[in-house]
Amino acid sequence: MAIAAAGCLWAALEIRRREISPPADTQIELVGLRELAPLLEALPDPALLIDSASRIVGSNTAARTQMRFEARGQFLTSILRHPDLLEAAQSAVNEGATRAVEYETPSDANRHTRCYVAPVNWGAERAAMLVFHDESARVSTERMRADFLANASHELRTPLASLTLLIETIAGPARDDVKERDRFLGMMQVQAERMRRLIDDLLSLSRIELDEHVPPSDRADLAGVAREVVDSMSAVAGERGVSLKLTAPATPALVVGERFQLAQIVQNLIDNAVKYSKSGDAVMVEIAVAGERDDAVALAGRRWEEAGRIALLSPAAVAGRTYTYVRVEDRGPGIARRFLPRLGERFFRVERELGDERGGTGLGLAIVKHIVNRHRGGLAVESQPGLGSAFAAYIESATDEVHTSVTKVP
Ligand code: ADP
Repeated sequence: MAIAAAGCLWAALEIRRREISPPADTQIELVGLRELAPLLEALPDPALLIDSASRIVGSNTAARTQMRFEARGQFLTSILRHPDLLEAAQSAVNEGATRAVEYETPSDANRHTRCYVAPVNWGAERAAMLVFHDESARVSTERMRADFLANASHELRTPLASLTLLIETIAGPARDDVKERDRFLGMMQVQAERMRRLIDDLLSLSRIELDEHVPPSDRADLAGVAREVVDSMSAVAGERGVSLKLTAPATPALVVGERFQLAQIVQNLIDNAVKYSKSGDAVMVEIAVAGERDDAVALAGRRWEEAGRIALLSPAAVAGRTYTYVRVEDRGPGIARRFLPRLGERFFRVERELGDERGGTGLGLAIVKHIVNRHRGGLAVESQPGLGSAFAAYIESATDEVHTSVTKVP
C-alpha cells in the first residue's frame, strides 16, 4: 500500500516535472523563473527575460532566431543599443515600471518594432520581460495613408489654384474683354473637368478597396463587356483619329467577375491606349480564353521579343484554374523599362517623372490593379519605346468551382 502510494506520488511529480520543464530550446537561467519557460516559448513574438544587471537570463526561440544570439548570460546591450529601450528595461527591474518603446531598426528604416517592457516578480526573483512586436505593416499602412492624402490634396490643389487665378483675371483685367473672357472660361472648364475626373477616380478607388477582400461570385461575359465598351468609346477615339479593333470569341467568354468592374478594367486600358496613340493609329482589343495561369501570361503578355515586361499582379498558380484575358495594345510611344514597375502606383505618371505636369490623374491603372486583385486575377504589361504598349488583365474563367485565395496589393 505504502509502495503503491509512493509510486503514485512519484508518477504525479514526474508528470508535473514534465509539464513545467521548459522545452529543450527555451533558455531560462534564473531557477525560480524556469516555470515561466513554456509561457515564454508559447509567445509568437520574440521575448527576453533580463535580470537586474541587464543580463539576458531567458529567451524564446523566436528571439534567438530574430536577434541572432546563442550564448546565455549575454548583456542586453550586446544585442540592443536603443537608449530608451535599455532605460525602460532597467526601470522595469529596479522600479517595477511598465513601458512600451517604439523604435526603427537602424539598418532598416522600414522595420518598426514596439517593445513592451514589464517587471516580472516571481517569488524571490526580480526580472523584466521584453516582448518585441513587429509593427512594420501598421506603420507602413499609416505612411501610405498619409502619402495618399498628401498626394490627393496636391493633385486637387493644382487645378484649384488655376481656377482661382482665372477667376481673378476674369473679375479684374479681363472684365471688359469679351474675347479674353471666353478664352479664360474655356480654360476654367478644362480645370473643373480635371477636378471632376480626379474626384471620380478617387471615389472609384476607395469603393473598390472597400470590398477588395470579398472576391466576386457573379458570372459575366468578358467578350460582351468588351464589345459594349468598345462601342461606347469608338466615337471619342474616332475624334482623335484612333480606331478601335476588337477580336473576341463569338460565344460568351464567361469569367468569375462583376460586370461593372470588368467594364472599368477594359475602359481604363482603352482610355490610356487611345490617349497615347497618334492620329491614324489603331488600338487592338483582344479577348481570348487561355489555359492555366502560365498559359494566360504567355498568350496575353509575351508577344514582343525586345519589349520590357513586368507582371503588376500575379495570382498563385493553381492546377485546374483557367483564365480568360483582355489585351489592349497600342502603337503609342511605349514606356521605358525603368518605369514599368511603378505602373499602377497611385498618382504615378511617366510624364511627371519627365518633368511634364500635364496629363491624366495617374489613378486609372491603380483602379485596374485593385479590381484585378479583387478578382484574384493577373495584370501584365509589355512595352517597347518606339513600338507601343500592351496591357493584359486575366480573370478566372467561370467553371462550376469558384476559387477564393486572397493576396494583398501594395
Ligand atoms: P493616367 O490617368 O495618367 O493615364 P494611369 O494610372 O492610367 O493614369 O497611367 C499611369 C501612367 O502610365 C500614365 O500617366 C502614363 O505615363 C503611363 N501609361 C499608361 N498607359 C500607357 C500607354 N498605353 N502608353 C504609354 N504610357 C502609358
